[in-house]
Amino acid sequence: MLSEETKLTNVHAMEAALSASLGSSTKINLAVPTSLARITPIVGAWYFSIKCDHCTVISPALRDESNGQRGNPFTGIGLLSLICPRCGEDAAARVEDIIVQQWMG
Ligand SMILES: [Zn+2]
Repeated sequence: MLSEETKLTNVHAMEAALSASLGSSTKINLAVPTSLARITPIVGAWYFSIKCDHCTVISPALRDESNGQRGNPFTGIGLLSLICPRCGEDAAARVEDIIVQQWMG
């Protein structure tokens, strides 16, 4: 079990990588399973999101500064995960399952 601090560090590292590659076609290599802290989403903002397999709720995971324009920039064999805010289970998404979505609250 990772500490919340580590999960928050993961969020910042992923968002820094996303920011740095904004406007280019560079893919973000998700090489390993990456646990993320839960963020507080902003209504109307876009997020790379994860659907919970247990209860199907979709949770915003990482901010998409391109507002959906860049599509899904992730590649690799890793996955993103977070604790589902609805059911408390581990919600994980492989690269192909990451959802690009505007948070409507
Ligand atoms: Zn859930």
